[in-house]
Amino acid sequence: MRFDLHTHHERCGHAYGRMEDYIEQALELGLDAVGISDHCPSFDDLQDHPTPRLKMAKSAFPEYVQEALRLKAKYQGRIEVLIGVESDIIAGRIEAYAKEYDRYPFDYIILVWLSGFLPLKFWSSLIITRSRSHSGRTLIVRSI
Ligand SMILES: [Zn+2]
Repeated sequence: MRFDLHTHHERCGHAYGRMEDYIEQALELGLDAVGISDHCPSFDDLQDHPTPRLKMAKSAFPEYVQEALRLKAKYQGRIEVLIGVESDIIAGRIEAYAKEYDRYPFDYIILVWLSGFLPLKFWSSLIITRSRSHSGRTLIVRSI
């Protein structure tokens, strides 16, 4: 199985192009699955969009998930589109993120924790399926 679970798009400021462009590219490359994993908003910040070149706005997050769900349905049977997010985690601020993620049907979340230990108890609906050696601090988890 060929796949890419780490993609960024225009919404989070890390890349150019729309989600659908990446799905079309994945089809052209013959991938079996592609994951949508824009950088999450700063849910622990009072501002809507404090870091425009690093993360998407909080107000853009529901639309992000809706677009991914729409494309997942549109491409069903042609390529598996997985819905995810890449999330920075800072110890002591994790509850604001967990509360938002529990609202949506994510297939996986890429966690990059920046300080302290990672209290996975906040994600009771998620299980770790694979760990990656990305500075030893990235996990890919999926919902159960
Ligand atoms: Zn990334």
